Amino acid sequence: MSATTTSPNTDNATMDAILRKYEPVIGLEVHCQLLTGSKIFCGCSTKFGAPPNAHTCPVCLGMPGALPVLNRTAVEMAVKASMAINCTINSKSIFARKNYFYPDLPKGYQISQFDQPIAEHGWILLHGGGAEEGNAKKIGITRLHMEEDAGKSIHDGFADSYQRTYVDLNRSGTPLAEIVSEPDIRTPEEAYEYLTRLKQILLYVGVSDCNMEEGSLRCDANVSIRPIGQKEFGTKVEVKNLNSFRFLQKSLEYEIERQAQVLDSGGKVAQETRLWNTSQNRTESMRSKEQAHDYRYFPEPDLLPLIVSEKWQAEIRGGIPELPDAKRVRFMSDYGLSEYDADVLTGTQSLADYFERAAKGAPDAKLAANWVMGELLGALNSAGLELTASPVSAERLGELVKLIHDGTISGKMAKDVFAKMFSTGKTAQNVVEESGLKQITDDGAILDVIKRVIAGNPNQLGQYRSGKTALFGYFVGQVMKETKGQANPAKVNDLLKAELEKS
Ligand code: ADP
Ligand code: ZN
Ligand code: MG
Repeated sequence: MSATTTSPNTDNATMDAILRKYEPVIGLEVHCQLLTGSKIFCGCSTKFGAPPNAHTCPVCLGMPGALPVLNRTAVEMAVKASMAINCTINSKSIFARKNYFYPDLPKGYQISQFDQPIAEHGWILLHGGGAEEGNAKKIGITRLHMEEDAGKSIHDGFADSYQRTYVDLNRSGTPLAEIVSEPDIRTPEEAYEYLTRLKQILLYVGVSDCNMEEGSLRCDANVSIRPIGQKEFGTKVEVKNLNSFRFLQKSLEYEIERQAQVLDSGGKVAQETRLWNTSQNRTESMRSKEQAHDYRYFPEPDLLPLIVSEKWQAEIRGGIPELPDAKRVRFMSDYGLSEYDADVLTGTQSLADYFERAAKGAPDAKLAANWVMGELLGALNSAGLELTASPVSAERLGELVKLIHDGTISGKMAKDVFAKMFSTGKTAQNVVEESGLKQITDDGAILDVIKRVIAGNPNQLGQYRSGKTALFGYFVGQVMKETKGQANPAKVNDLLKAELEKS
């Protein structure tokens, strides 16, 4: 994944007009499934895709008397994620019961954290899509707290017209981290980038697979607008369960437009929860403030306060790899890359590693970067392959770049060589030798061809010598043709000029 963002903006003119009048204010609440093998309070598997209710036990089925036992790995992952987004870890946090009724919540409450979450006061940097230099913006993170997921209701209609609902509790008790942002986001594009950066960081630290289709990453968006210049925030609307980046951006665009229309016509925005209707491309009211839940949170009596000691924190911190922001800066200074290139190449840990391994063998890191971002990603994309399945290893791409750099092959030939490496899995050296694609750099060999060409074109030679120097290009063309494009162009130029000037 590249972290670079693109926006599927629908109607720029309408949005521009709104943004001249109103400023949107956006805060995101992101649920991320932690990548533990077992659930947060029991030993059941978290593996996705099992038959319904295969991964359940008395604890995650909510049987009376069953007691939760906190999963240590889930805590470590939550702390890791918190540190990676610059949060302060609370050495003591409290689990709380969030009470509500729903068929997929057998206990009648969800174990979450409330007023004492595991981490607070972090931030994430936005880089404006990475396309412009030095314009980072800090988005505050209010908190990260741990909680268990609920089960899943599956609604199904049948030919007999009865609507049935099934409950699958495999997901019940899966560990989640909920990450709440400050209302610091100002545009749908920024919201898109915030989620992109957050996902990138979570993938780097390896605490979640962030698979949106499987629900490992879910997002609720809070959005309000205020007249430009007004200090107080407007009334916010919460759009729930956005399960793709595109839906996040589109629903925000829709909401901003809808709220602007309400205010423009003298109305008031109602505080409510809305849902994104994917087939109608609009948000729809789900419940109003009056119907809002009162969860009656209270401390979970079956779990002790969670203590994360300084020592444990230090251990966890030691396991955090170099993060995208630091890597991007290092790529710029170590390899002389532009911010844009550094941003693309640090998009994922595996792409960054690939580039560094390729650059190691290559004398020219920028050239290596161009080859990774251009030919390699292009070829993988058209072949529908992941980087990990690349037929050309980083080391071998580095060797190819070396051959270009030392003039063994031209950049143009290298494209053919790369294509053969990609389709056959052979090394650059092998491909070059087998197909005789080697660039001719030997002066004597080039001079032989030049002499032959000159001897074979007495007319053009006469014209050239009587002042029609534009014919130089003609001679170059003939030499390249004779050598099947393999002669080093710079050498051809020098040697040919000297030869033609001889009288
Ligand atoms: P609630 O109590 O309704 O859950 P919170 O204060 O906990 O509200 O905020 C939830 C999310 O809404 C946070 O991400 C926060 O940044 C965002 N938010 C709060 N106020 C506004 C507002 N006026 N406009 C847009 N987003 C807001
Ligand atoms: Zn269980
Ligand atoms: Mg809240």
